[in-house]
Amino acid sequence: MDLAIIGAGPTGLEAAARADRARLEAVLFDAGTVADHVRAWGWLRLFSPFEWNAGPAGLELLRGRGVGLPAGEALLTGAEFRTHYLLPLAAALRPRVEVREGARVRDVARADRLKGEALGEAARADQPFRLLVEENGAETEVFARAVFDCSGTYGRPNWAGPGGTPAVGERSARAAIEYHVPDALGARRERYAARRTLLLGSGHSAASTAGALASLARAVPGTRFTWATRESHRLPLRPIADDPLPERVKLTRRANAVAAEPPPGCEWLPRSRLLAVAHTQPQGFEVDLEIAGTVRHDRFDRIVANVGYEPDDRLYRQLQVHACYASLGPMGISAALLDARGASGDARADCCIDEGTLGPETLRNPEPGFFILGAKSFGKNAAFLMRTGYEQVADAFSLLGRSAPRATRAG
Ligand SMILES: Cc1cc2nc3c(=O)[nH]c(=O)nc-3n(C[C@H](O)[C@H](O)[C@H](O)COP(=O)(O)OP(=O)(O)OC[C@H]3O[C@@H](n4cnc5c(N)ncnc54)[C@H](O)[C@@H]3O)c2cc1C
Repeated sequence: MDLAIIGAGPTGLEAAARADRARLEAVLFDAGTVADHVRAWGWLRLFSPFEWNAGPAGLELLRGRGVGLPAGEALLTGAEFRTHYLLPLAAALRPRVEVREGARVRDVARADRLKGEALGEAARADQPFRLLVEENGAETEVFARAVFDCSGTYGRPNWAGPGGTPAVGERSARAAIEYHVPDALGARRERYAARRTLLLGSGHSAASTAGALASLARAVPGTRFTWATRESHRLPLRPIADDPLPERVKLTRRANAVAAEPPPGCEWLPRSRLLAVAHTQPQGFEVDLEIAGTVRHDRFDRIVANVGYEPDDRLYRQLQVHACYASLGPMGISAALLDARGASGDARADCCIDEGTLGPETLRNPEPGFFILGAKSFGKNAAFLMRTGYEQVADAFSLLGRSAPRATRAG
């Protein structure tokens, strides 16, 4: 196998389309179904237009097959984007690219080289990668000359306690806490209507949840929420300077308006931290919240912790990957993002969309032929946009072109 791609999200599918164009023998794994993470937040409207969300190789393949595509300026929901672009792309790739759904990659290593051997040497590439794959309850191994890890971060939420560690009791309560963006106005409405919810976080996911809970509170009597954020800023979300995406501007404004003027019975608490949580049966939580230095004991029916995501670095533990000590993303990209961020120091202030690619060299790490691409390449930094991932894919192929693998697939 020339190339193994882990994750059939937007980035992995674009990589597969490029592999197809280059006539590489490629396999695309997804632990769930194609674009499973996009499916999970499918009711949300993307803030970038379709022309930003479709990759060049994917578009070329679909246009070549006469597939009808959304208008460039269309603002689709995640579900629409998946139905009208990502799923047709996966279908067009089959059978030339092997797309394996329900196949979770557990580990990647060199077939016969340990992590500490041949440090940073090109000679590591003499051995293929060995991927341990869990599929239908059984384990298999797959060997490949190059690996793209495009497995995203949405599957690995951060902890909600102080300093990014679990709050006291959070480990036991984890299964009862919602760490993703709930469809509080749709499929999950019953769960949040006429209930009291604690919302934690101050990114765009928390902003979406705050907007939905505020609408629900205005529509259904008894719906209340407390929105707790860490910072002491005047408003929970800091607008991105000169943001070219009007939908993201609207989302930020709307969430800040909710915080400034919450519906009756609701509140926004800046300078707050979750110290302790206990899930009390059959439902409900007892929590200790520290608010501006004072501890408040409180009770909630629901907790939504939209406190970000982090990359799963267990996948490549046995490889020579240089990870950033702050973001857990690959060092080259993290360093370039830090440079781009300048003096502000605020990870959420990053906006590399106007910078185009961060440069192929930022993708390199000591392990030859192994690349972390897409949302995962930004580590804990949530400022990633799909079109950056597509540029990374092109860059990774240009680096691969200078070394192994060569096309092995016939015609
Ligand atoms: C709520 C939300 C809204 C967003 N809105 C926008 C937007 O409007 N515009 C924009 O440009 N970006 C947006 N983003 C950011 C980002 O572009 C998306 O998260 C995008 O889906 C990232 O694509 P990806 O392919 O890198 O990763 P993902 O879409 O996360 O795909 C990763 C895939 O890998 C699979 N996987 C995970 N682990 C394994 C494993 N071990 N083995 C095999 N498969 C595995 C998963 O099942 C998943 O299908 C948004 C993100 C979120 C969370």
